[in-house]
Amino acid sequence: MSILSARSLSVRFETPRGTLQAVNDVSLDVNERETVGLVGESGCGKSTLGKALMRLVPAAEGRIFVSGQDITRLGSKAIAAIRSDVQMIFQDPYGSLNPRHTVGKIIGQPLSVAGWKRADIKARVCELVDKVGLPQAALDRFPHEFSGGQRQRIGIARALALNPKVVICDEPVSALDVSVRAQVINLMKDLQAETGVSFLFISHDLSVVEHISDRLLVMYLGRVVESGKAADIWPAPAHPYTAALLAAAPVANPKLARSRTRKTLQGELPSPLNPPQGCAFHTRCPIAQARCHEERPLLRSIEGHAGRQVACHFDLVTHQKTPDLAATET
Ligand code: SF4
Ligand code: MG
Repeated sequence: MSILSARSLSVRFETPRGTLQAVNDVSLDVNERETVGLVGESGCGKSTLGKALMRLVPAAEGRIFVSGQDITRLGSKAIAAIRSDVQMIFQDPYGSLNPRHTVGKIIGQPLSVAGWKRADIKARVCELVDKVGLPQAALDRFPHEFSGGQRQRIGIARALALNPKVVICDEPVSALDVSVRAQVINLMKDLQAETGVSFLFISHDLSVVEHISDRLLVMYLGRVVESGKAADIWPAPAHPYTAALLAAAPVANPKLARSRTRKTLQGELPSPLNPPQGCAFHTRCPIAQARCHEERPLLRSIEGHAGRQVACHFDLVTHQKTPDLAATET
């Protein structure tokens, strides 16, 4: 069953330089006990999509559903009531924790907002700090007394306080050292196994998402360009952009046939204020053809590959191509 869904969701911002279409016609589902990885370069609209799903930024068009309930136009009171079901973990474990509050107060904050009694909050907070692998003594201390990885554990404890159905994780390990990342990801996986929570895991780094996602959504300039089971996409990406991201990922999976030589993606991400005509990726695509400059490819199912979608006229699965993703080796 789908816990969190979006249908044709768009988010726009008015800027001095014009309208910025940050999220464009995005549909997605996060099912029970599932982790969906949302990947793409920074600036592609992933974080904005995450915030729109939380109703932290307004949707210009489209609908958002939590456990089947349409929350798109709910007022602030009703939104507060669904906050217990949908929580968010932020990238910056420093900035997202109030430096003047003790860890106990930070973790207990969603519970007190939800009207829990003091004694119940205390008991729940003690349980949570234990669940995320921090000592009870941590509760009386302040965020600055902890390392980045420990602060992210505090953020996770706070996000899980109300037993949410889904947590939107926006680059939760990007600010952490590589050695600490694996620990935090393993903790998240363990907590998922224990509580059944679903994750929408936002990351620009495919090597992070690879280890945690059941399904993937790849975004480029505000649109989904590929989606499907992670196990189908890793060995054979359909969109040239996904293939380029995979080729640029720091850790190649040795089981896969893909080259272990890192290749960087050519060209710059075009400005979302002025996206290219036709396929938005044509300015960087190694297999672009004349048609790509004129006609925007729609997101469509890939024939014979259940559950996979791609927005490319000449997708690599149907055309069985391995493009030379060329570019500079690093
Ligand atoms: Fe490349 Fe054309 Fe496919 Fe766009 S539609 S990704 S430019 S081949
Ligand atoms: Mg971001």
